[in-house]
Amino acid sequence: MVIVFADVAGVEAVLAGGRLRCPCGGQLGPWGHARERVVRGVGRMRPRRAKCRGCGRTHVLLSRLCLLRRRDAIAVIGAALTAKAGGVGHRQIAERLGVPKDTVRGWLRRFARDAEAVRAHFLGWAFALDRELGPVLPAGSVFADAVGAMAIAARAFVLRFGPREVWPVVAWLSGGVLLCHTSCPFPPIR
Ligand SMILES: [Zn+2]
Repeated sequence: MVIVFADVAGVEAVLAGGRLRCPCGGQLGPWGHARERVVRGVGRMRPRRAKCRGCGRTHVLLSRLCLLRRRDAIAVIGAALTAKAGGVGHRQIAERLGVPKDTVRGWLRRFARDAEAVRAHFLGWAFALDRELGPVLPAGSVFADAVGAMAIAARAFVLRFGPREVWPVVAWLSGGVLLCHTSCPFPPIR
């Protein structure tokens, strides 16, 4: 499975010090690396792998700047989703972001397919993080509601934990599996 790590630079020290935990509670130790890849908007990445000393499962430690199995930074993908929610078509989005239009269409289709699950997941987080959150008004489409839910959850996170960039928060709250196949369910809300 995937563990989204907040401080990529510090991951080695935390891992070596045995301070990173598996979802089962066991201690994670270093276990090589995943294949190196280039993530547009981020650079070369060679994600760390870790193995649990308890249950024996291996995990990929993913930077919160990207998503599992996507070659573009979450900030770029997020900009595309936001534009689509605002009524911009995929060709124009692709042109604006300098990304192939088939890639953008792929993101939008995947997101549209899972929009209801995305909306529910992020609203769950929003209400868990901000107990005073008022009713959330519909934005006009399931797609826009899902994008809105991500923004509301990120804002609730910032209110609770202090200022930080929105899209890495969204990546983290999704467990890195936003736009992934349904075989990678969202992690539970803690
Ligand atoms: Zn474990």
